[in-house]
Amino acid sequence: MKDIFLCTISNVSSGSCAEDCAYCTQSAKFNADIDRYKLKPLEQILHEAKVASENGALGFCLVTSGRNLDDKRVEYISKVARAILDSGLHLHLIGCNGIATKEALKELKDSGIASYNHNLEASKGFFPNICTTHSWEERYETCENALEVGLGLCSGGIFGMGETWQDRTDLLYALQTLNPHSSPVNFFMPNGALPLSKEILSRQEALECVRLAREYLPNARLMIAGGRELVFGDNQKELFECGINAVVLGDYLTTKGNTPKDEVERIKSYGYSIATSCE
Ligand code: SF4
Repeated sequence: MKDIFLCTISNVSSGSCAEDCAYCTQSAKFNADIDRYKLKPLEQILHEAKVASENGALGFCLVTSGRNLDDKRVEYISKVARAILDSGLHLHLIGCNGIATKEALKELKDSGIASYNHNLEASKGFFPNICTTHSWEERYETCENALEVGLGLCSGGIFGMGETWQDRTDLLYALQTLNPHSSPVNFFMPNGALPLSKEILSRQEALECVRLAREYLPNARLMIAGGRELVFGDNQKELFECGINAVVLGDYLTTKGNTPKDEVERIKSYGYSIATSCE
């Protein structure tokens, strides 16, 4: 029986990002109706980590909005990571803090962060359509940096932003060259504040994207993430049949997810078990 890996996200700092990623409500340029705050208090993050663990999550991802992993973020994420591990929780900690140098990533690793999430988001050719303030190459290089310092790499993308099938295979090929141990699959979520306006992908097209991702990344933990509720509603069984073996549990960065209890029950009702180890 397939085990499904669960990962919970903590949005450590939200909104007010100076970048212009056209799919992201956290960009200050679009004035989307979201919560904005600088750094979530340590006690609150510790509580979220405890609840995530109780809900069955093995992964816990510490996300900060903004362009890059600067000194302030390195310091805070490292402090948070040490506090979570000192509390005795057995969580695989993931940093998700933007473009990063090897030096900054090494500091995260030394604090106990096990993996780094940095999505390529789109193919190299399509990326300038969705972002003008940083380059695809900077994203790719950050992924390489994470691997070079010995962090696990989690990298994926978003489908349904107006890209062609060629763009999708180009993205997946680029991901294949990085060989991430984990790869999030997101579907674009329309929001009236965003400059990007696209119809939600159909169920069949979204499933084709998942099948293709599994073909290109046969050994990755293929993690279904944002947008799945919009595309699939409560009927998500086919996602797992097409190759998904990991799930973001609970809320996303700025949107609500299913409740963890419902999610776990649903996965079990499809005949799968919840992973109890990171192996
Ligand atoms: S850099 Fe990150 S937080 Fe900022 S707009 Fe782009 S995706 Fe959003």
